[in-house]
Amino acid sequence: MSLSFEINSRSGNARGGRLITPHAEIETPVFMPVGTVASVKGVPQDTLEELGAQIILGNTYHLYLRPGVDTVRKLGGLHGFMSWRRAILTDSGGFQVFSLNELRKVSEEGVTFRSHLDGSSHFFSPESAMEAQIGLGADIIMAFDECTEYPADQARMRASMEMTARWAARSKKYFEEHKSEVPWGAASEIPTLAAKIAARMAHPPSLSHAGSGDATQSLFGIVQGGMDRALRKESAERTIEIGFPGYAIGGLSVGEPRELTREIVESTLEHLPKDKPRDRRGVGTPEEIVEYASLGVDMMDCVLPTRAARHGLLFTSEGKVSIKQARYAQDAGPLDANCGCRVCNRYSRAYLRHLYASNEVLAQVLNTIHNLSFYLDTMRRVRHSISLGEESRFLSSVWSRPKP
Ligand SMILES: [Zn+2]
Repeated sequence: MSLSFEINSRSGNARGGRLITPHAEIETPVFMPVGTVASVKGVPQDTLEELGAQIILGNTYHLYLRPGVDTVRKLGGLHGFMSWRRAILTDSGGFQVFSLNELRKVSEEGVTFRSHLDGSSHFFSPESAMEAQIGLGADIIMAFDECTEYPADQARMRASMEMTARWAARSKKYFEEHKSEVPWGAASEIPTLAAKIAARMAHPPSLSHAGSGDATQSLFGIVQGGMDRALRKESAERTIEIGFPGYAIGGLSVGEPRELTREIVESTLEHLPKDKPRDRRGVGTPEEIVEYASLGVDMMDCVLPTRAARHGLLFTSEGKVSIKQARYAQDAGPLDANCGCRVCNRYSRAYLRHLYASNEVLAQVLNTIHNLSFYLDTMRRVRHSISLGEESRFLSSVWSRPKP
């Protein structure tokens, strides 16, 4: 068994459930911290565990360029390489390649693009994107898709959606033929301490649901269709027809107004199977993750909490705090009196402001730990509200939570 998903509670359209992958049991809806290059910037893996992160994200495009899939594969996949026992999801690389704009060239075969690191030329096809993701060895991987730009005319949106459907079929075919090559046991070829650690990480003995060793990765399909509801519906139907254990709603947050994003997500969700996990990339502010959970999205990720933290922007139960402001210079209080994280338990706003003003690396570390804690905690409260059937309450609970 490689993936199972069960829904335990509902509140309106929101679902509370449990997603079981070979490396972790994940309560949903879940927020997934982003570890672009096999690192959640500034936060060590043991701290992520302490924060309760059950699944993190890696970016195929970045890891493919550096350190390279072969290196990661030889070191036991991402689990072994970065010493992470819990679940990992990788994206297909499609969105990142899309963001390169003028550096890419798209054909039926795939996408030629230039590295943002050194300008070298590379090629991703559905097959090579699968090969890369199998080598990286995440629990959940994504079909290779084309992210349609915004704005785009009807003909362009249709052509792009149809190509994504063809690429989804090619992705699945390659995955089915090669999924046994996942490197969860491969590290034993390398007689080093790193290999032993990698092997242990790849097969955590505590997880009985990892099964008899035949558990492997799960490939999710991605729905495209631009900003057109009918094309989204058709894309959902065609992707479901190919058949995947979970579905992502792609091609959003590409410059469209926020209201339109919500509308497209809401209408797309109607066409996705009720009993399969639904993933939505690049959400968002704390209000947005709550909002999307209320619509019935089960999995979300975003660089916002980590990126904002590095710029001194902190999310708290009383709203956003820009810690660089002089008003905090002598503020002895905690960053967030309602937060139980190790930063709020130990340090004052004055100290955090000083670290930021002094450009200390520790400022980035502590700020990121708090922001991730806030996001993970927000999702924990959302799950709790769903389990109690309190639809109306959790929507308003982001900035106004009671003291524990
Ligand atoms: Zn905190």
